[in-house]
Amino acid sequence: MLSKRLTNLHPYVPGEQPKDRVYIKLNANENPYPPHKSVAEAVSKAVLENTEKLGLYPDPDATELRKAIADMLNQTGGVLSRARGKQNADGSCTCSPSEQDKIPFTVTPDMIFCGNGSDEVLSFVFYTFFDSDRPLVLPEFTYSFYPVYCGYYNIPMNPIPLKDDWTLDVEKMLFEANKSDSAIIFANPNAPTALSLSREQVRGMIKKAPKDKVFIVDEAYCDFGGESCIPLLSEFDNLVIVRTFSKSLSGAGMRLGFTVASPKLTESIFTVKNSFNHFPIDFVTQTAGIASCKSAFYYAENARKIVSNRTRLTDFLREKGWFVIDSSTNFVFAKKEGVSGEAVYQSVKQDGLLIRHFATPGIEDFVRMTIGTDEQTSALIKSLEKF
Ligand SMILES: *Cc1c(COP(=O)(O)O)cnc(C)c1O
Repeated sequence: MLSKRLTNLHPYVPGEQPKDRVYIKLNANENPYPPHKSVAEAVSKAVLENTEKLGLYPDPDATELRKAIADMLNQTGGVLSRARGKQNADGSCTCSPSEQDKIPFTVTPDMIFCGNGSDEVLSFVFYTFFDSDRPLVLPEFTYSFYPVYCGYYNIPMNPIPLKDDWTLDVEKMLFEANKSDSAIIFANPNAPTALSLSREQVRGMIKKAPKDKVFIVDEAYCDFGGESCIPLLSEFDNLVIVRTFSKSLSGAGMRLGFTVASPKLTESIFTVKNSFNHFPIDFVTQTAGIASCKSAFYYAENARKIVSNRTRLTDFLREKGWFVIDSSTNFVFAKKEGVSGEAVYQSVKQDGLLIRHFATPGIEDFVRMTIGTDEQTSALIKSLEKF
């Protein structure tokens, strides 16, 4: 009865969503701050005043949303934690990127493709650009959904171990990609290590990577202090950047992600989407997404609060003798000599907090802790004082 393909599937396991008691949830890198109130207002208004739209198919191209995303990227440079801005009298906001993040061209809506979460976007990206005739080059430890999609689409993988200092082995990745004329994918900042490559480092990498294959950079965490590769799109037409509303834009429940790439590659992803589901973004999510983009200033402030609590947690852990990898994300990846990740996880769970640990050999001593609000971070620090 079952397809042969099914045996290739090894589903991704997300952070647990327990229902038995209320935990402080620091295990899925969600944003601890709620969406801006204009998002709730826009959704309520749209649903109450345009109820008939719930009975009609939404805009298959998410035209207005893609325009709002392009505007937001132009205004923030793709790094919220460094974007400055102000709230206007009418409630809207204007942002400007830091000098470091300025994009030397205007991002246009035809460079944006939207999907139902960046997980779905990644699925379309894998279908659009990777074949089963050559391995995809990726780091051994990176977002664990990439291997899942390789199984789903029957794409061979060539995972490259990280270096001893947990950084990507850029030389080895390039060597292997050139050897098999392969595409490359990784998250920058990477997950779960939290480390990032500078834009200059990625530029150097793309220059030496196969030109006739795509180079995918997943910037799910870039807003928390990485450097976006969006400015490189004017130099490289094989670059595809993947982003999400789930982390910095407090939108994990809205399921919205997008790519930024040349109009030509973007069009190819649309072809795949239109061969699978014309309407991945419903009317309510399109409305919520547009309102979120227009409140970028609020999310920039939240990103700065998260960065400041990240520093507080990192300093505390290092003072207590933990090994903590430098983070440019909304989580910290750390371990304490002599204590397993599982033991730390169990101990903080007793105190009502959920964090993540991985059974994967090589990283089983680590825990991944999402940065919460001031109070949540204090509760986590208090619970970790035992170690
Ligand atoms: C969270 C995450 C995603 C998925 O985000 P969704 O938009 O919620 O599907 C993609 N890539 C990385 C690296 C992530 O951490």
